[in-house]
Amino acid sequence: MGLVVPQVIKQSPVIFCDFDGTITIDEVVTEVWREFAPSGWVRDVEQMLAGEKSLLEGVPAVFARIPSERAAQIATFAKQTVKFRPGLEELLRYCNSSSIEFIVATGALDFFVEPVLEPYRPLISRVISIPADLSGETIRADTVMACETCALCKAKAMDGFDRAFRITVGDSITDEHGALASDVVFARDRLATIMRDCGRKFHEFDSLLDVRDILRDGYCFTASDRCV
Ligand SMILES: [Zn+2]
Repeated sequence: MGLVVPQVIKQSPVIFCDFDGTITIDEVVTEVWREFAPSGWVRDVEQMLAGEKSLLEGVPAVFARIPSERAAQIATFAKQTVKFRPGLEELLRYCNSSSIEFIVATGALDFFVEPVLEPYRPLISRVISIPADLSGETIRADTVMACETCALCKAKAMDGFDRAFRITVGDSITDEHGALASDVVFARDRLATIMRDCGRKFHEFDSLLDVRDILRDGYCFTASDRCV
């Protein structure tokens, strides 16, 4: 079965896909911090995950302890160590052949996200990430798309896509606001728990082939599966 979008409700489908832990198997940003951030970052991460510190407070604070001159090394490190989640290429190719716009929305910083995604970039329509200002002594995350808690709010990343059929693919607390603003959610790990806790319907996935198969079979576009 092909893609069936309910025309009365929404127009063209757009996927907003998370990067860390979704496109990648491991959190690239965590690996970067493990390698480049001075000690103390673990506590920041724990506080963020426990909700004691917002991502908006935590993420820029950790990067602000890393010298800007290490940016090129970080990008190389990220590119060399990244492991992509199985099914990425198949999902991207399916979206491209089915007129589904594929956007990567991530709270990671542009200077390492873009190099990591470079092999797949022709198949991705946009990458929305946090711009890094590397002109100062340390890395400054330019949180232009922040909300009260997210360093990059994925609900804000959806601005201008009001009439699109919005699909979130994600795994973490950073995906919550975007997921709640979406018509369909694909979730794993912590995002799946969040969706369950707030009673939202979602599709659980492991490999990105799972996402492709559900899209391809038209399953996620039935009314009973839409988030309401
Ligand atoms: Zn937010």
